[in-house]
Amino acid sequence: MAVSKDFKIQIKGLAVGNHVYDFPVDGAFFKEFENTQILDAHLVVHVELEKGSGFIHVNCGVSGTVETECDRCLDRLEIPMDFTASLAVKFAKTDDDPQSDELLILDPTDGELDLSQFVYDYICINLPLQKVHAPGKCDPGMIEKLRQAEGGKAEESREENSPFAGLKDLLKEN
Ligand SMILES: [Zn+2]
Repeated sequence: MAVSKDFKIQIKGLAVGNHVYDFPVDGAFFKEFENTQILDAHLVVHVELEKGSGFIHVNCGVSGTVETECDRCLDRLEIPMDFTASLAVKFAKTDDDPQSDELLILDPTDGELDLSQFVYDYICINLPLQKVHAPGKCDPGMIEKLRQAEGGKAEESREENSPFAGLKDLLKEN
């Protein structure tokens, strides 16, 4: 898989201590992962890397917005993102240590640390399950079309299930 060169940190010869990097993330980043759900992105990944002898700690702060499709009206939806994630990197020659989301095992001969997969996974994890506009912000034309397509029956049963259905009956009685 082709991955963004920007997310590769040269660790060979990197001095022990703290290092800071900023990586911009745009829509092309998600295309490289063949993700068609994210239409565009305006994110900055702020990486704080601490190199010790035999280990590396990485703290990532991701902030900005991603653009996706609204599940309800299919119009463009901007989702704000602001989260942090950390990763520990260990150098080992064997595969005995199980890899996990928070621990990455690198061969001591690896000259660079590629954070693209890690960053991609965390952005996906932090996306909301339901990607919809705030109430009333959906494309009104599309909502009207959906309403017509669903037909009157679906509309009725939904009203019966709504918490206001009982209230409506009360109002009718008065
Ligand atoms: Zn919408």
